[in-house]
Amino acid sequence: MRKPDWLRMNITGKQQAVAIKSLINDYNLNTVCESARCPNKSECYNSGTATFLVLGNICTRKCTFCAVNKDSDLIQPPDIQEPTKISEFANRLNLDYLVVTMVTRDDLPDGGADHIVRIIETVRLTCKNELWIEVLVSDFGGDYKQISKILDAQPDVFNHNMETVPRLYDKVRPGANYQRSLKILSLVKDYSPTTISKSGFMVGLGESPEEINVLMDNLMEAKVDLLTIGQYLAPSVNHYAVKEYIHPNVFAQYRAAALSKGFKDCVSGPFVRSSYKAHFAKDLK
Ligand code: SF4
Repeated sequence: MRKPDWLRMNITGKQQAVAIKSLINDYNLNTVCESARCPNKSECYNSGTATFLVLGNICTRKCTFCAVNKDSDLIQPPDIQEPTKISEFANRLNLDYLVVTMVTRDDLPDGGADHIVRIIETVRLTCKNELWIEVLVSDFGGDYKQISKILDAQPDVFNHNMETVPRLYDKVRPGANYQRSLKILSLVKDYSPTTISKSGFMVGLGESPEEINVLMDNLMEAKVDLLTIGQYLAPSVNHYAVKEYIHPNVFAQYRAAALSKGFKDCVSGPFVRSSYKAHFAKDLK
């Protein structure tokens, strides 16, 4: 389908983004910004935010919307230097908001939870700045004790995406489970009430506004604070096909609906991604 005008982006701050990209390479780190070909990276880099993809760049799941490599033959053990490299990078760039996301590692006994905890602890210990840490994590195969382990390390924001409506899970997010993901989000507030909980989903995959309404209600029942809603853009013709380009007015309506349902805040727009404008979490404290 031909992209509408509102999806034509004027990329600014390219020079700065190129400089940060080479620094990311120097530290041999992975960012979702690069591997997911995010349209917002210049803006985010320039606002002192970067989203690190940890536990390698090979995922054990087969989500059909996602550009991350899924070739399990290439999977590597976690990089034990990663916590130190990320905190050095954060210091070097004076980041004040750090998003740590992960590939799903169903091959690891703890799903990678200990590695996430080490990153939070190392960054807390070594970063000069008053740094906010947001973790965007997998479902750990429903092993809920891994979730509480991460919450014990006290990230400022705990994020877990729903990605889409339950009817589309089999096609879009095989290996995931809608009720399991909701349970993880409600566990955040039950186990650690002061931690900000966040979730997000894409639109344009064939869902109806009624299904989005029910998804928002389910997330409110799970006591989620923050919500992100963005347009699905297929990384390639081999990925799940875009069914619809949602008009910015509809994104505005979704935001208004989210706020009227009681979400503390919602970022909704064609280019919104899970950690886009992640700083907005700071307004809650
Ligand atoms: S679990 Fe995450 S990283 Fe893995 S394929 Fe799905 S969306 Fe991509």
